[in-house]
Amino acid sequence: MKFEVTILGSSSATPIFNRHPTSQLVNVHDTFILIDCGESTQMQLLRYGIKPGKIEHILISHLHGDHYLGLIGLLSSMNLNGRKESVFLYGPKGLDQLLELNFSLSCTQIKYPLLFKETKLEKEVIIDMDSFYVETIPISHSITCTGFKISEKPRSLKLKKHIVQDLNIPVELLAGIKEGNDYINPAGEIYKNTELTDIPPLPRSYAFYSDTKYLPESICYIKGISTLYHESTFTNEMSERAALTYHSTAEQAALMARAAGAEKLLIGHFSARYRDLNPILEEAMAVFPNTKLAIEGLTFQI
Ligand SMILES: [Zn+2]
Ligand SMILES: [Zn+2]
Repeated sequence: MKFEVTILGSSSATPIFNRHPTSQLVNVHDTFILIDCGESTQMQLLRYGIKPGKIEHILISHLHGDHYLGLIGLLSSMNLNGRKESVFLYGPKGLDQLLELNFSLSCTQIKYPLLFKETKLEKEVIIDMDSFYVETIPISHSITCTGFKISEKPRSLKLKKHIVQDLNIPVELLAGIKEGNDYINPAGEIYKNTELTDIPPLPRSYAFYSDTKYLPESICYIKGISTLYHESTFTNEMSERAALTYHSTAEQAALMARAAGAEKLLIGHFSARYRDLNPILEEAMAVFPNTKLAIEGLTFQI
C-alpha cells in the first residue's frame, strides 16, 4: 500500500534559487493530503503532473504567508474546474475567516463543500480513516503552529491463501484466523495460526515538523517514527538567530531524529541565505546519517 511524500516547496520565507515556499503532498493508501500550501503550490503541482482534483485533505500548519498564501488560488481553481467533491481543510483559528473575507470581497461562491476544522495547540486526532489516522503535534513557533503525524493502523494477519484453499477452511472462520485463531479441521487435526498466516508489515508513520524552535520535549509525540520531516532553516553558526526567530538548525533537526529513533530524516525550509545546501546536509548527517534534503520534485517512500 502506497505511503509516500512528494516535496513541492523547500524554501523558508521567500522563494529563491529555484526553491519554493513550503508544501508537500502525501499519498497514504491513495488518499491525497496536501500539507501546507505556499505561494507557488499550484504551479508546482502542474510541474510534477499532479492533478489538484485528487487532493482530499489540506493541512495548514500556521498562518505565516510562506505556508498558506497559495491556498486561496488553489481553492479558487478547484472551483473554476467544477469540483464537486468535498475539501477537508484543517488549520489554526482564523483561517476560515480569512478565506471567507477573501471570497466575499471577490464575490466568489465556492460550489463544492469546503469543510473547515480548527486545529489547536495540542495532540488531537483530526482525520480517522479505516487504515490510517492523522494527529496534530503541538510545536513552538512565533505564532500558533502545529505539526502533523500520519500513522498507519496495524493490519490484521495475512492469510496464506494456498494453504487456506488446500485445507478448505470455511469462509466464516477466516476473520477469526486473521485475528490469530488456530484451525481445527473436521477430523480434529489442529493447524496453528502461524501455519495459516503471515505477519503483516509494521505500521509506518510520517511526522511533519513545520516551523518550530528546537523542541526536545516534544519527542514523546514521535517516538519510533518511520520518517521525520523537520525544518532546518539554519546551520549551527546561526543558532542564536534560530532561537530568536523560533526556528531550528540542521543539527537540532538531526538530534530530534536521533532521539525519536527515526529511520529517516528529511530536512527543509531552508533560509534564503544558503544557495548551496551541502553545509546544511553535512551538519545534519554528522548526527543522523540517514538524512535527505527535502527538495522540490523528490518523492520519498515512508
Ligand atoms: Zn515558514
Ligand atoms: Zn513561520
